[in-house]
Amino acid sequence: MARIIAVTNQKGGVGKTTTTVNLAASLAATKRKVLMVDLDPQGNATMGSGVEKDRLTRTVYHVLLEQNSLAEVRVSTSAKYDLIPANRDLAGAEVELVQEMAREWRLKKALESIASEYDYILLDCPPALNLLTVNGLCAAHAVMIPMQCEYYALEGLSDLVKTIKRVRAHLNPQLEIEGLLRTMFDPRNALAQQVSAQLQQYFGDKVYRTVIPRNVRLAEAPSYGVPVLYHDKASKGAQAYLALAGEMIGKSEAVAAAGV
Ligand code: ADP
Ligand code: MG
Repeated sequence: MARIIAVTNQKGGVGKTTTTVNLAASLAATKRKVLMVDLDPQGNATMGSGVEKDRLTRTVYHVLLEQNSLAEVRVSTSAKYDLIPANRDLAGAEVELVQEMAREWRLKKALESIASEYDYILLDCPPALNLLTVNGLCAAHAVMIPMQCEYYALEGLSDLVKTIKRVRAHLNPQLEIEGLLRTMFDPRNALAQQVSAQLQQYFGDKVYRTVIPRNVRLAEAPSYGVPVLYHDKASKGAQAYLALAGEMIGKSEAVAAAGV
């Protein structure tokens, strides 16, 4: 059964989409079966996977409104993972779902029919704690939190941890923190080092050992519609996301072997 991971941080520009796309590609390159769900009306993960968002007639929006199944909306990508795409239609979903029953559970319910086909399902959440993100948090087993090691990062993180606790108390008791990922990291920056040390102090081994460096190849790859692995495999960015996939697989397979 798939492990479902929501890539979340209410802050924009911290590397959620970059992480979702490149981790999906790295897990797929490691022969895992991966589905990625774009939950952001900006559709950046869709475009970054080489799928033209404005030509789509069926997207995750139609799934959330129960007009289509995930299998009807799913597309395959050249990077060997499957994608549930999004475009700006999704911006209307929040308003349209207000009247609906069980609106927080739409994604979870939809995933039940295809989850067994995958090892990992990654959800790229929008930069807000809105109904789309809540659908992601209700569907997920765990949350991956990409963050930049900046001055306000820890404050933003405590808001997010509160939200996760609230979701756990009222909606999804099984929701765990999968891990915190340091993104766009510059080891020469003293503040980044300091925030990174505090992060490890508070969150211990929930902080991934793998650090994602600032790397121009990661920023360029979406303009070619491919994950960085297919743009410049030797780049530091590509190697970092391969290492992250390895670290994640190592952790989850160790847990599975221990029968937990
Ligand atoms: P989010 O999804 O959290 O809003 P993105 O993944 O879209 O964040 O990243 C924001 C911007 O930063 C994008 O332009 C992206 O290309 C760039 N970026 C993300 N990670 C890196 C990195 N490690 N090195 C360089 N640029 C990055
Ligand atoms: Mg994004």
